[in-house]
Amino acid sequence: MTSRPFGVGLTLEDDRQALFILRHHRRFPPASHALVEQISERILILASAAREPMDDGLVFFHGREDSSFSAMATTPAFANLTLVRHPLVQHKMTLLRDRRTPTKIFKELVDEIAMLMAYEATSELSLDPVTVETPLEQATGFQVSGKKLTLVPILRAGLGMVEGILRLVPSARVGHVGLYRDHDTLEPVDYYFKVPSDAAERDFFLLDPMLATGGSAVSAVSSLKRAGGVRIRFLCLVAAPEGVRRLGKAHPDVSVYAAALDRELNSQGYILPGLGDAGDRLFGTR
Ligand code: URA
Repeated sequence: MTSRPFGVGLTLEDDRQALFILRHHRRFPPASHALVEQISERILILASAAREPMDDGLVFFHGREDSSFSAMATTPAFANLTLVRHPLVQHKMTLLRDRRTPTKIFKELVDEIAMLMAYEATSELSLDPVTVETPLEQATGFQVSGKKLTLVPILRAGLGMVEGILRLVPSARVGHVGLYRDHDTLEPVDYYFKVPSDAAERDFFLLDPMLATGGSAVSAVSSLKRAGGVRIRFLCLVAAPEGVRRLGKAHPDVSVYAAALDRELNSQGYILPGLGDAGDRLFGTR
């Protein structure tokens, strides 16, 4: 693409053109930072594509509400929530939501999105410096410190997220949590729980595609903590505000990673707009 200056108010052809320019030219005039703060998030500001500083200009246009201005953002309303808004994740999430998406593709999409989310969720794992011998000389590198990361899918839908993450972190261990809802108390009850015995020394990723009421999530985190777990992250594809709030209240130390924060729950506890029953869509049991 040829470099050329833009002026304030210049209309771009579409959002994709704007986003392309934004990503391609990672240079912002200093003035843009103050403007980003002054103007609401719904306006995207683009730096000039020109090479000479004198030609720098700004382009304003109204971005879509879901514009991927940043790849990843912590929503201020929920201190415990990180939304993974990478364009590939958003694209795949849209296919996932589509009622026409068949089971085979649904399963592949859950797997791929989980892998992309794990890339973000592993970004704060601590590292130890190590020395390696290259074919030419010694070099300093890094390795993830401590015991192996442990994935804990909540049965059954969480299983759909395991393989994708294992492709990224093949040495990860896998525990399991099985929960059912007691008919009388409506509270979740563990029917299966197995994680490595040295839980206190590990990082855990608790997996469930849907964070709906938050009941199962709170219960699974409590079980993991009883087993000694201290560093726990919760990875889901779709979160409801009710679930994020409930999990944050019960376990404020647990970070939640989601690909989408949806509007609300319906009276049956399904997320709206959501994607339906994740377990049924994954395993074809509808
Ligand atoms: N579990 C699901 O599978 N879907 C929802 O919308 C809520 C909980």
